[in-house]
Amino acid sequence: MNKDRNSLEGGAVQTGAGLPRDAKPLFGMGPEELRAVVEGLGLPKYRAVQLGDALYKQRVESLEAVTTLPLEVRQGLAAEGFVVGLPEIVQAAKSVDGTERYLVRLADGETVETVWMPGGDGGERGDGSEAAVEEEGEAGDPQDAVEAAVEKQIPFGNDQQRDAVETTQPKQIPSLRYGMTNKGDIGIQDGYKRATICISSQVGCAVNCQFCLTAKLGIKRNLTAGEIAGQVSAVLNRQRVRIGSGKGVETPSRINLVFMGMGEPFLNYDAFMQSVHVLRGMGIPESRMTVSTSGIEPSIRRFAEEPVRPKLALSLNASNDAVRREIMPITKKWDIAALLAAVGSIPLGKREYVTFEYVLLGGVNDQPEHAREVLALLKGMKAKVNLIVWNPGPGIDYHQPKPEDVAVFHRMLIDGGIPTFTRRPRGRDIYAACGQLKRTVDAAPALVEISTR
Ligand code: SAH
Ligand code: SF4
Repeated sequence: MNKDRNSLEGGAVQTGAGLPRDAKPLFGMGPEELRAVVEGLGLPKYRAVQLGDALYKQRVESLEAVTTLPLEVRQGLAAEGFVVGLPEIVQAAKSVDGTERYLVRLADGETVETVWMPGGDGGERGDGSEAAVEEEGEAGDPQDAVEAAVEKQIPFGNDQQRDAVETTQPKQIPSLRYGMTNKGDIGIQDGYKRATICISSQVGCAVNCQFCLTAKLGIKRNLTAGEIAGQVSAVLNRQRVRIGSGKGVETPSRINLVFMGMGEPFLNYDAFMQSVHVLRGMGIPESRMTVSTSGIEPSIRRFAEEPVRPKLALSLNASNDAVRREIMPITKKWDIAALLAAVGSIPLGKREYVTFEYVLLGGVNDQPEHAREVLALLKGMKAKVNLIVWNPGPGIDYHQPKPEDVAVFHRMLIDGGIPTFTRRPRGRDIYAACGQLKRTVDAAPALVEISTR
């Protein structure tokens, strides 16, 4: 045993994140692992339950804070090199719309991005998840009503509906929920109901989608389950959110999660799935989680077999293989037909839909013939489409779609019978695209391509 580590502070070599290099993070461990830890210290099993509650219910940030354990037990854990091991928010940017984008530092000093979106980004609408049902059912919330109307009617409504939306919007939208509170500079206004947290699964990404800023970072490494779920704990602590209580101004009861940050969760499948279980242990049901994949066919097949799983979103992004190969070279490995067949093998709940994300790139995939192809592809599937207007980024040579092309595309899908939503852009004023915050602090490493053979 390292004699330097005989206090709760520990004395081993520090990494960039201030953790001993050989520290053993507890956050991320499941019940059996925690039991093994306490039994290793000669402690009774119930100590593992207390430790789990401290990590996942109270969301402690240090062993010192686990006051349900006697001091000597905490000291024993520390002496063995155990730490809570939460990732740390080291940089934050706040948008006028309430979105906060964080740079989160991991134990080895690597960083990823995590995004907090009070009110959500509308990405869950229509997928049958609890989050979606709430969004659709919250008629009493004028902001939601207007936002829903803006999304649902402007692109395909008649002039009268459009005028109604446009004239009611300014009266109803201002600062209902977003903005400062009297509880400090990071709080949420009274009346706020839900938030979505967007989390990362890898440091960078190997998939190399041509329109994506994260792709430019290349892949550095996978996150552990603790690092994936730990982003949520760090953000909830920062926002002083207590899950599930449903009471009080700082306790929004409904937190939705999207695995849509940096990285490809299905190329880090085991850690991703373990993080789902950890997050459930934190009180967030899988029905409030959505995982987005660029289309890793074998992982989609595994996912289909999971007894407990989040909702799935597939980044379709093109209406035929030729265009998809151009913008997502991974299509050479698994084409659209293979992906749709894999998605079709997922047993869906009664109200459940699979979401297809479709990033609109001006002149590339946003024309009426593409919309017709999308309709043909998704025919007969329980599918909804999330259209995402492409966010520009430095060094990426695409154009944003014209608003009228977005509107026509949206209307054609609706008319073809596919529930379609155009994702509302969040936090545009802070950093346009996912990956940008990290890029401002990193020199871009070399691109690593995954095999497409
Ligand atoms: N790797 C996973 C999840 C992270 S990306 C995936 O690709 O699905 C989450 C979503 O953001 C994907 O649908 C992706 O197509 C989209 N996206 C990536 N770069 C974008 C950009 N610059 N503008 C808009 N959407 C983008
Ligand atoms: Fe990776 Fe997703 Fe970006 Fe593609 S879109 S490079 S899979 S993060």
